[in-house]
Amino acid sequence: MLKMKDYEFWFCTGSQDLYGDECLAHVAEHAQKIVEALNASGNLPYKILWKPTLITNELIRKTFNEANTDENCAGVITWMHTFSPAKSWILGLQEYRKPLLHFHTQFNQEIPYDTIDMDFMNENQSAHGGREYGHIFSRLGMERKVVVGFWADADVQKEIGAWMRTAVGVIESSHVRVMRVADNMRNVAVTEGDKVEAQIQFGWEVDAYPIAEITDAVNTVSRADIDVLLEEYYSKYEILLEGRDEKEFREHAAVQAGIEIGFERFLEANNYQAVVTHFGDLGGLKQLPGLAIQRLMEKGYGFGAEGDWKTAAMVRIMKIMTQGMKDAKGTSFMEDYTYNLVPGKEGILQAHMLEVCPSIADGRISIKEQSLSMGDREDPARLVFTAKAGPAVAVSLIDLGDRFRMIINDVDCKKVEKPMPNLPVAAAFWTPRPNLKTGAEAWILAGGAHHTAFSYDLTAEQMGDWAACMGIEAVFIDKDTTIRQFKNELLWNSMAYRK
Ligand code: MN
Repeated sequence: MLKMKDYEFWFCTGSQDLYGDECLAHVAEHAQKIVEALNASGNLPYKILWKPTLITNELIRKTFNEANTDENCAGVITWMHTFSPAKSWILGLQEYRKPLLHFHTQFNQEIPYDTIDMDFMNENQSAHGGREYGHIFSRLGMERKVVVGFWADADVQKEIGAWMRTAVGVIESSHVRVMRVADNMRNVAVTEGDKVEAQIQFGWEVDAYPIAEITDAVNTVSRADIDVLLEEYYSKYEILLEGRDEKEFREHAAVQAGIEIGFERFLEANNYQAVVTHFGDLGGLKQLPGLAIQRLMEKGYGFGAEGDWKTAAMVRIMKIMTQGMKDAKGTSFMEDYTYNLVPGKEGILQAHMLEVCPSIADGRISIKEQSLSMGDREDPARLVFTAKAGPAVAVSLIDLGDRFRMIINDVDCKKVEKPMPNLPVAAAFWTPRPNLKTGAEAWILAGGAHHTAFSYDLTAEQMGDWAACMGIEAVFIDKDTTIRQFKNELLWNSMAYRK
């Protein structure tokens, strides 16, 4: 369901007419060679389009306004081949509204010691022009990404590729629409937030629907359609009967199939890309949506439990940012549950009542049915599995009343020491960096939630860049975090972000 536009990025080169036509011909030729090489590298998730060299105020302004209105353009990559007086860029940049990357590279990798003369110096002065250009961004207080390095270097290309994913997350943010099947869980603070402010800040539309309307959509799914999906469940997943009646098990799974189809049709028909539910507000639904939500998340929908629309929108955005990634390890809604405090083995067991995305599964995925031990519905079917090992990022977006803050934690996912045969839900286990003690203390000091949007496939840098483009505060908890420094950062940020 993760349908997206065929996004492209524009490559704009800065120069001026002081150096003559021959020089400008070289500038254009070099820029086109770089664009061709980047597109052929296999390191970029989106295509780059070369644009004619920008040398006048008028052309700069026109090009940026065209980038604004071009629906497929997700951002502009700029390169100062020579010196481009930055006053020429002021109006164009002021009117530009999309993500921008300043690629600080130069055409030649090495100084041509034997032949270098003033002609060469005039034609190849990125070190000079890039500084003039960077100055005007700082003066204007504009957000931009700076990537420094040689254009043919694979690591540099990958940095551009990672930023492209962030840029698409920024562009797509204003298309995120969250369907609320239920309100926020009563009395819970951290999952609440100002929906108007979220729309102003992130472009998200967050709408509520009566549970009866969703139930109707589920109840109108035909038995034939349910049976087709049920066959898919039974062929794709292992069935953990565990002594339950086979027929009854099948009927419980059929309820989730009906929920999956009914919800997806409703989301599609009404143009929503994320959904929240609440175990305490199920109306006519026979089960808490479990397996159904897990599969919707796998298809690319955002999800947050107990009415948590902020996390639902973030999961959706992180799914968008990882779209089409080769060998992706997965992105999911997650919740901190239980600690292991044994010295040397510290970590947090992550799970939820039911709703963990199977994209993060390592190996076998099974269907299990068990009572929820909360609420009054029949035992829901859910997918159970363990998560992959490896580094990942956990993100919490909170509303502090006067602003949003994003908390970004580098975590290391690990295999649990022993199987957990009685745990009836999918789970992950991670140790936050720099370690559980400092990581958890910093998370709590920052006010981070128990719900997170989690991904193996994105970096803290990408999430921080996304937050910066949105104009919100981001704090990082990683290998370098110390509590004294972190507390100061929170204090200073509270001044810097005061409205
Ligand atoms: Mn929860």
